Amino acid sequence: MEKAAASNMSVSSGELEAFQSVLKKAVELLHYPEIVYEFLKEPMRVLEVNIPVKMDDGTTKIFKGYRAQHNDALGPTKGGIRFHPDVNREEVSALSGWMSLKSGITDLPYGGGKGGVICDPRQMSMRELEQLSRGYVRAVSQIVGPSKDIPAPDMYTNAQIMAWMLDEYDHIREFDSPGFITGKPLVLGGSRGRETATSRGLFYILQFLAEQNKMELAGLRVIIQGFGNVGSYLAQYLYESGAKVVGIADVLGGVYDPDGLDIPDLMERRDSFGAVTHLFTNTLSNKELLEQECDVLIPAALGGQITEENVHELSCRFIVEAANGPTTAEADKILQARGITVVPDVLANAGGVVVSYFEWVQNNQGFYWDEELVDTRLKDKMAASFEKVYKMAQMYQVDMRTAAYMVAVRRLAEASRLRGWID
Ligand code: GLU
Repeated sequence: MEKAAASNMSVSSGELEAFQSVLKKAVELLHYPEIVYEFLKEPMRVLEVNIPVKMDDGTTKIFKGYRAQHNDALGPTKGGIRFHPDVNREEVSALSGWMSLKSGITDLPYGGGKGGVICDPRQMSMRELEQLSRGYVRAVSQIVGPSKDIPAPDMYTNAQIMAWMLDEYDHIREFDSPGFITGKPLVLGGSRGRETATSRGLFYILQFLAEQNKMELAGLRVIIQGFGNVGSYLAQYLYESGAKVVGIADVLGGVYDPDGLDIPDLMERRDSFGAVTHLFTNTLSNKELLEQECDVLIPAALGGQITEENVHELSCRFIVEAANGPTTAEADKILQARGITVVPDVLANAGGVVVSYFEWVQNNQGFYWDEELVDTRLKDKMAASFEKVYKMAQMYQVDMRTAAYMVAVRRLAEASRLRGWID
């Protein structure tokens, strides 16, 4: 699963507001007409569905789900499906907008999409999850497809769920279409390196950030909030590079050790939802962990974790956003005022969708790459994207988040204009 340290952290309802406020600023700085903002501020389409599932106890439960398609000027929409109790229409809409930005920044021929189902997978059996996954595909099958809208894993969904969804789609369409979904198991047309792609991309971003600031990764003190798919692999890469992972958090709480944690040991001993902190006697709350001293703080769990309430307590120099939308709009302004550099989610965690794109290309070609090729191409994409955003930030004297939006909006607006959709 793209697991997240989840349940004791609440989701902010301000994701769409956060997306729109930076979007507005980016459009203004680029001197684009207001219509560009009006056009991009919400998804072009959001489908809401109700999915009946026969539960193991014999009852039938109806699950609400969504698929948001933000903008398809650049190509088919693309983005994950999350299974989580806090999923809602507004969140899925903002997440689809962020997917458009990620593809825009990394130069992928995609627009942004995102799906979600309100459910708690930790309380469901495998059979129930399979029924829900298949039911979701039946409900959205009209608007998805390999050249329309391509789903992928997100929070609490994984390669097995992608496999069930692919199978259901193949049954509906009556032909084999591996490019319908990414993040699949290898044997069903998945790509080498997809499972670790988001973390690998984040690791490269940290390398570029360190270079830019004349620092070494070795010895850098890092706190990672979240020990799921993204957080745990990233912790491992950082550990291997000599960085000191001084703190991690999971669904139960956090642990902090100024001498650095033994990440390989924790990787071995975590449970299937990424929980490890129960192995320690001295634990902190998630909130307390965020406030511990470090050089780089990496929120890698849910959205809305850095807020007006805790932003003054943070004790880091850099924030690299591994989660989608971990910083609220108000907190973001305060971070800038405090001189804390933020590498925004839409750049930092784009490695996942980049390798999803590689997977889709391999599916379309029927020709599969080795891991080294995937990794080299991922690194090239992340380097070019970091460079573009960094230059934009320098040129306009803005923070990296605003610059990242500007890079993406430029591409989105150009494609929309050329198609004759806006002036
Ligand atoms: N769910 C991931 C994200 O938020 C990956 C999306 C994809 O691979 O399409 O970026």
